[in-house]
Amino acid sequence: MTSSFQEMWADLAPIGRDAGSGGYRRFAWTEADRDCRAWFRSEAEARGLTYELDRNGNQWAWLGDPAAGDAVVTGSHLDSVPDGGAFDGPLGVVSAFAALDELRHRGVEFTRPLALTNFGDEEGARFGLACVGSRLTAGQLSKEQAYALKDGDGVSLPAAMEAAGHDPSSLGRDDERLSRIGAYVELHVEQGRALDLSGDAVGIASAIWPHGRWRFDFRGEANHAGTTRLVDRRDPMLPYAETVLAARREAELAGAVATFGKIAVEPNGVNAIPSLVRGWLDSRAPSPDDLDATVTAIEKAAREYADRHGVDLDVVRESFTPVIEFEHALRDELGRLLGGSVPVLGTGAGHDAGILSSVIPTAMLFVRNPTGVSHSPAEHAAEDDCVAGVRALADVLEGLACR
Ligand SMILES: [Zn+2]
Repeated sequence: MTSSFQEMWADLAPIGRDAGSGGYRRFAWTEADRDCRAWFRSEAEARGLTYELDRNGNQWAWLGDPAAGDAVVTGSHLDSVPDGGAFDGPLGVVSAFAALDELRHRGVEFTRPLALTNFGDEEGARFGLACVGSRLTAGQLSKEQAYALKDGDGVSLPAAMEAAGHDPSSLGRDDERLSRIGAYVELHVEQGRALDLSGDAVGIASAIWPHGRWRFDFRGEANHAGTTRLVDRRDPMLPYAETVLAARREAELAGAVATFGKIAVEPNGVNAIPSLVRGWLDSRAPSPDDLDATVTAIEKAAREYADRHGVDLDVVRESFTPVIEFEHALRDELGRLLGGSVPVLGTGAGHDAGILSSVIPTAMLFVRNPTGVSHSPAEHAAEDDCVAGVRALADVLEGLACR
């Protein structure tokens, strides 16, 4: 007798949960991560699946012969951001097991191998880079780059892996594994309110929005906050503040998002006019053109404000991730399998399915999140919607992998 969705959910619930915040701290290669991994393995073995830990630290549970090729794979991740919610990641893994149970209950016959996965270190909470397990597998992160990653205490990724009993010596692109996979479908809690607004329990992902990070350095002149006349000031906080408002305005106009969430001030004294205000802009949009238009408009506004206040401005793009379109054929197939009336929506959040889309056909299902809140203890999905998600995932897997 295997555990139900509710039982699996209850078994995972206490692992890595902080009593104070109520949020999860399941960071890669820590004790909480080890307990999550032990849970995955025991659920796999309870179902008679063949358990595997790959060389990049991802867990696999196989039904059928992996070497047969063209496997259908489903899963997500079990790690979390600091004080993350219960659903981001685990919903996809628990739903994978529950969907398999549902298919066995339906008595279907599998014509392709099926694998359930838990991708390691998706959130990047410990080593600062997201999707480490899938990036390594897909060849988007080399062994050398992975070896250079360090956590906040200076512990390197390979050292953390070794301490957790995983040999890091053969990290890297895994062509043999990729060649076995015909499709990867990841179910995930929605990190927005599109499904709540459309009144649907489940949706299909169209694309992951292009996104980037830009650093805005406003340089003025430090001076005494009490004795410097307002007209004599070159205060970089003023154009910075106006730029924050411009970011909001331009994002609204373009249907994008733009956020100044991090700021550094020098000298950072309560009675000092700043000499430098450094703000980091994170912006994402449905299309590369929308993103470009948004950031260009924000930068143009920032330059005007800076000029007006006699402040210098440098803008540096620190990172950029292009749009990721999920494979259209697989996406359309999901739509057909789910009856054609399922909404198709884009997302501003990154996922293993996005990384893997560079090497194999991938697709995603989203489950309604009534508040849209994610990466927070308040993240939530209703049990009925989770059950609808399991059913949708089972329908998709049946259509793809069964007779
Ligand atoms: Zn996630």
